[in-house]
Amino acid sequence: MKKNRKILIGTHNDGKFREISKLLSKRIKKISPKNLNIKVPKETGKTFKSNSELKANFFYKKTKIISLSDDSGLEIVALNKKPGIYSARWAKKNGSFKKAMLNILKKIKNKKNRKARFTCSLSIKLNKKKIITSIGYIYGNISHKILGTKGFGYDPIFIPNRSKLTFGQMNISKKMKIDHRSEAFKKLKKKLKLYKFFI
Ligand code: IMP
Repeated sequence: MKKNRKILIGTHNDGKFREISKLLSKRIKKISPKNLNIKVPKETGKTFKSNSELKANFFYKKTKIISLSDDSGLEIVALNKKPGIYSARWAKKNGSFKKAMLNILKKIKNKKNRKARFTCSLSIKLNKKKIITSIGYIYGNISHKILGTKGFGYDPIFIPNRSKLTFGQMNISKKMKIDHRSEAFKKLKKKLKLYKFFI
């Protein structure tokens, strides 16, 4: 890999920035749009993929730095895949993540099916022409209570399959071994190898 490579991680969400940084090689300099005073664009896409591509394209256009962006969210079967791409916006609308989580627990209180998945679409804009995208999932269930204080967003109500703990109760290193973002990242890395591009 070239020395001094830098990648802009296109998010203002500190939790996401931390997780994506940890996935990248230590040798890569990680740039935050916050430090460059660049705002995030409006997520006008109708899918996770269109939103992650929209963000990576936007940050590349602004900075000409290789830009990695994700779009992610929680899809709950009993809520017809909501909040989905509106996950961050639901929290805003409810006033906080805690309130959004309590609202979800109330909405699905009497539902038998508590299945859910986190989805992550990860896009990297390498140059003016080339953008590569991969999608990752983690499947699980919605807990009956808010449990744990680790992680971010909806972590305290999501129990991944084969676990007794919510993501909010899990150490970040354990979460990151299995979560939707690392799944998408693994796939992205494979695709990038074909271009002899290593992250
Ligand atoms: P966006 O990708 O910026 O639209 O935001 C996605 C939103 O989905 C985040 O603000 C969180 O609410 C939620 N989300 C995405 N990934 C995770 C995760 O790993 N844990 C908890 N919540 C997440």
